[in-house]
Amino acid sequence: MIDTARLRAMFDEIAVAIEADKDRLCQLDGVIGDADHGIAMALGFGAVRDALAALDLSAIEPTALLNTAAKSFLNAVGASSGPLYATAFIRAAAAVKGKATLADTDAVAMLQAMAQGIRDRGKAEIGEKTMVDAWQPAAEAAAAAHATGKTLAESLDAALEAAEQGAEGTKDMIAAKGRSSRLGERSLGHVDPGAASAVTVIGAMRKGLA
Ligand code: ADP
Ligand code: MG
Ligand code: MG
Repeated sequence: MIDTARLRAMFDEIAVAIEADKDRLCQLDGVIGDADHGIAMALGFGAVRDALAALDLSAIEPTALLNTAAKSFLNAVGASSGPLYATAFIRAAAAVKGKATLADTDAVAMLQAMAQGIRDRGKAEIGEKTMVDAWQPAAEAAAAAHATGKTLAESLDAALEAAEQGAEGTKDMIAAKGRSSRLGERSLGHVDPGAASAVTVIGAMRKGLA
């Protein structure tokens, strides 16, 4: 069972993991973008951590917590990852609306809603060298594992593995969305920073949730 305290702990895990990964993410973005991705993500999840710390968790449901996360992430981040993750959290909030606590099924649904939100907001498809190439296979792997009776921990392990493979796969893609699409074929051979940070986020969610 996942309550608001557990969700806040999950966001704390993400903030710590992203902060530790900040320099690597900026370096990856420096190769095919503008070198700010680590800073953007760290600012965003730092703001989420601070906003959630101020909440009275006994008074709210998961949906309100997730909407607070969305709002603080969006306000803190000027880069394109801002609206993408904000939409992900708004969709996660909608997916668990009305629930006081979350079951494993809800956690898997939350992951799927996040991936769908990122796709809808950025209009990127698989193969366009974005965070979608990590998020979508991760959400699908979690759903598939859950559907065959795997535990939440196992399902999130599957999601993490799929995200890692998806991020690695972006090396062989030519960027078709976002800033790095301006590079065309010169984006080949490099991991997409947003896909790399997705792996970090999903890994921290796995740690925080199960
Ligand atoms: P910016 O490019 O504005 O500096 P960031 O550096 O924070 O933003 O984020 C860059 C990442 O955002 C990319 O590596 C990519 O994964 C992701 N991204 C950019 N545009 C899109 C999009 N339309 N759909 C999905 N993801 C995108
Ligand atoms: Mg950038
Ligand atoms: Mg930027």
